[in-house]
Amino acid sequence: MEKRQQLYAGKAKSVFATDDPDHVILQFRDDTSAFDGERMESLARKGRVNNRFNAFIMGKLQAAGIATHFSGLLSDTECLVKKLEMIPVECVVRNIAAGGLVRRLGVEEGQALVPPTFELFLKNDAMHDPMINESLAETFGWATPEQLAEMKALTFRVNDVLKRLFADGGLLLVDYKLEFGVFEGKILLGDEFSPDGCRLWDAATREKMDKDRFRQGLGGVIEAYEEVGRRIGADLG
Ligand code: 5GP
Repeated sequence: MEKRQQLYAGKAKSVFATDDPDHVILQFRDDTSAFDGERMESLARKGRVNNRFNAFIMGKLQAAGIATHFSGLLSDTECLVKKLEMIPVECVVRNIAAGGLVRRLGVEEGQALVPPTFELFLKNDAMHDPMINESLAETFGWATPEQLAEMKALTFRVNDVLKRLFADGGLLLVDYKLEFGVFEGKILLGDEFSPDGCRLWDAATREKMDKDRFRQGLGGVIEAYEEVGRRIGADLG
């Protein structure tokens, strides 16, 4: 697999072409952003930790029968993935109230959400990823009703698998964001799953062990990610 030109640089990852038109390389950088890129910092080891964390989670999801874009680890900071046509809609499931939900509805942080909620956001930094719904997604052509139904079902299947995985490590999966894309007509899970895009709390103390440590200036960001990896049996190198 030959690495070719950079196709795209996101806030924390870069995408490179390969000699295979169906595959691209994701490179996880140490860059960390919050508030739609308004705050940027470089955190040592983050690229390696998130790349290996994501590989571990994608492996677990694939083993549970959830189709993902992940094809394999290439190095400490790079993995090979299928080249998807990305759907510009973020799918968020919440098991416990936190973050945007608390801000938007004034509900109490830490409240159990039964059943878990499902929300859609438009992937658009300039607009601060506004909340949308199925009707808007269909009308503006961001996703078809069939795609939205499948994305929702897949996002909940991910919840079943990962809630248990993290619970076995003494962690609460509070909420998470997933992105999907199309490959040969099929919806696959894309992007990444790492503590950058989910909330994880210690089940006993409710200590935050995810990117909220960065957002809220709590420190020990990567150390917390590494502790999560240790607890769920992921080899973060
Ligand atoms: P909230 O709506 O509470 O800000 O986010 C809900 C969940 O989705 C959190 O776990 C958060 O980390 C994740 N999330 C939402 N939007 C983004 C995003 O643009 N980037 C990343 N990395 N995670 C996001």
